[in-house]
Amino acid sequence: MSKRSIIIEPDPILRKESSPIEQVDDELRNLLDEMLKTMYSASGIGLAAVQIGILKRLIVIDISKEDQSKNPIFLVNPEITFKSKNTSVYEEGCLSLPGHFAEIERPAECKVNYIDYNGQKKELQANGLLATCIQHEIDHLNGILFVDYLSKLKKDMIIKKLIKQKKEIDKIVL
Ligand code: ZN
Repeated sequence: MSKRSIIIEPDPILRKESSPIEQVDDELRNLLDEMLKTMYSASGIGLAAVQIGILKRLIVIDISKEDQSKNPIFLVNPEITFKSKNTSVYEEGCLSLPGHFAEIERPAECKVNYIDYNGQKKELQANGLLATCIQHEIDHLNGILFVDYLSKLKKDMIIKKLIKQKKEIDKIVL
């Protein structure tokens, strides 16, 4: 089980739609474990497979606080079946947009159908931070990033900074 590197925006793969999983087997569980390890080591609370370059409908989430015991959630082929009319606003970040945050308004509650780590069909009703996190991660499976909800001006500014950050990283590597 190894840690993977996280793909940083702008990158065309982050804009692609991920495909559904046919079956949950040991190979897939191994991938989910690697995603979780990658997410923990980057101090994230959610990661979609596309963020490590795999276009599959897989998400790992853990919103437990540092002083709490770990509580990972694995979502295979998640599908939102309900979104509330009432909304909430959270300051969102993303492992693929390091160092950038913005307040995003989303439905405050959602219900999601998914397949779990053991291949069982499950339904989850979420509110608060978990509801926002699930919606943020499912967006990734459809090629959507949180900056897409911002004005073009704000979005362009963040993308520009990310391009600059990438160039600086390249310089250090070279
Ligand atoms: Zn993200």
